[in-house]
Amino acid sequence: MHFFGYKGKSFYAEGVPVSRIVKECGTPVYIYSSKTLKRHYKAYGAAFSKVAHLICYSIKANSNIAVLKTFAGQGSGFDIVSGGELFRALKAGADTKKIVFSGVGKREDEIEYALKKGILMFNVESSEELASVNRIAGRLRKKAGIAIRVNPDVDPKTHPYISTGLKNSKFGIETKAAIKEYINAKNNLKNVNPMGVDCHIGSQITKIEPFIDALAKTKELLRTLRSEGIEIKYLDMGGGLGITYDTEAPPHPSRYGEAVIEGTKGLGVTLIFEPGRSIVGNAGILATKVLYTKKGSEKNFIIVDAAMNDLARPSLYGSYHAIKAVRENSGGEITADVVGPICESGDFLAKDRILPDVRSGDYLAVMSAGAYGFSMSSNYNTRPRAAEVMVAGKEFHVIRKRESLSDLIRGERPVSTKKRRRK
Ligand SMILES: *Cc1c(COP(=O)(O)O)cnc(C)c1O
Repeated sequence: MHFFGYKGKSFYAEGVPVSRIVKECGTPVYIYSSKTLKRHYKAYGAAFSKVAHLICYSIKANSNIAVLKTFAGQGSGFDIVSGGELFRALKAGADTKKIVFSGVGKREDEIEYALKKGILMFNVESSEELASVNRIAGRLRKKAGIAIRVNPDVDPKTHPYISTGLKNSKFGIETKAAIKEYINAKNNLKNVNPMGVDCHIGSQITKIEPFIDALAKTKELLRTLRSEGIEIKYLDMGGGLGITYDTEAPPHPSRYGEAVIEGTKGLGVTLIFEPGRSIVGNAGILATKVLYTKKGSEKNFIIVDAAMNDLARPSLYGSYHAIKAVRENSGGEITADVVGPICESGDFLAKDRILPDVRSGDYLAVMSAGAYGFSMSSNYNTRPRAAEVMVAGKEFHVIRKRESLSDLIRGERPVSTKKRRRK
């Protein structure tokens, strides 16, 4: 459920007409609804209110500091995958004791940064990484909280690019090998504290079963570890709950919660969740202007000012995003591809879509663009990245300025050809 929709013929974000935002801020522009963000965060909290839990919002889904602040204000922790994301979390006032650090390729400087800031734990993804964390923590005279990300070998039945828990995946460690790592950590690595088990099987998962299959496997591991005298306090279930882009019907967090609570009864652990998409996905739209329309014998095109550099998901995964006219007209409909200005045939936002017969100068709203939208955007074709706006009731705030032309070349310099002066 979200707070975008028509009032009469005009499309609104909460109490603000999108037409007003595009007039004042230009396009393309990402628009987020703070009421939706809070509602989705609270739905997670409510789903697990009966058990010890920690929600660590996954920053990579939408990393704007204003968005992070909204969650920090609700008591959220954060799941980070880089030193850059830790920097953002700190800027947003995050409680470092509620930060978990995921990812297969943590660099030494990133591990050091996180240790100095005192994060809760590292979700370790390889034997060599575990050794690095131990070594760096030793040098800093610290003890690093760790969980090992196990690869439970379950198929989340989602897009292969966002499926992360299969045996052939680069993520995590197979269960058997993980047991050895835990035992090694306990016996030989003085500067790590094995305190958690972690598992994240993929993204945009629309069924409960893969989560429950993964849970069964991690529970088995947890019992084995305890029998070895390893005190596991945290069970991190990762993120991955899907949203409705088109006709998907993913479980509500409350149903996911019931299943997980049932499956972890009597386990005596604090549950950690790392939701990203399910909190921010439907809390954002991308507004774009129609530049030209082009009707051909084979296909019609609506050429807009947002492109694959702004929203990569359609090009990258063939993803569907619903598209609405910002002002409904009473004209007819056409079937068209909605494409951007980038010089790639893969630059499209929609294919063969039935849309209102819009004209040059009209505006469109690309729905469900709050997750992996701006955060995946780039400057390809030397296009300034879009502005971001947060709506709250009848007000809106620019939370990221549109990039300027000089932003685009910041840090670049020509090779100096000046000759050195002879002494
Ligand atoms: C991306 C990611 C998440 C968030 O996934 P969503 O599908 O957006 O909920 C959580 N944990 C890890 C380790 C991730 O890589």
